[in-house]
Amino acid sequence: MNFNMTGIKERLHTIIKSIPSKVTLVAVSKTKPNSAILEAYNAGQRIFGENKIQEMATKYDELPKDIQWHMIGHLQSNKVKYMAHFVDLIHGVDSFKTLKEINKQAKKHNRVIKCLLQAKIAKEATKFGLAFSDISDIISSNMLSELENIQIVGLMGMATFTEDKEQLSEEFSSLKIAFDQLKEQHSKLEILSMGMSGDYQLAIKNGSNMVRVGSAIFGARNYIA
Ligand SMILES: *Cc1c(COP(=O)(O)O)cnc(C)c1O
Repeated sequence: MNFNMTGIKERLHTIIKSIPSKVTLVAVSKTKPNSAILEAYNAGQRIFGENKIQEMATKYDELPKDIQWHMIGHLQSNKVKYMAHFVDLIHGVDSFKTLKEINKQAKKHNRVIKCLLQAKIAKEATKFGLAFSDISDIISSNMLSELENIQIVGLMGMATFTEDKEQLSEEFSSLKIAFDQLKEQHSKLEILSMGMSGDYQLAIKNGSNMVRVGSAIFGARNYIA
């Protein structure tokens, strides 16, 4: 076995105890086997996050049906169809074109799919996401109201990969401020998804109400995903 399955339940419970009850924990299980997911499931966890659509679809087929699957990765429009029948929340939407595709696929299944718009808060050039002004344009657009099979329920952000707590706090709080302002435009914004294994405590301090935690539960991943 090249992964560490002992301790998943203990680590999960430690994290759950350390976060306020109003904060939702997404257990990020990308690259991890079904056995590890079941370990967390048997410890009570029901929300899991994946960053590859096909990997998530395979796990959906094989695992208990009361799991809520969150897509947290960057989306390829042509693959949305593989998750439209089951995905519970899509975190990383960063274009109107993708919203249209999600709407089209959701309609085929007679569903309304909840989405978060991904904001660019990191200073690194590699992180995806929309400028706050683009988010504002999307949520106030007339075209959005025609997309009856999607609902934008919040925002997601990924901070810079850094140990610098001051920078992290700045990036998280900038998103929290934008979130509060945008909420006045669009009352359905409820979820603010920010924070990962290394920075979720800081993200919560800065207003996050949904954290995406992988390695702190499941151990280090074997390859970069
Ligand atoms: C992998 C990933 C996470 C979890 O990362 P950890 O550092 O293992 O907690 C969270 N969010 C996104 C978007 C990810 O791709």
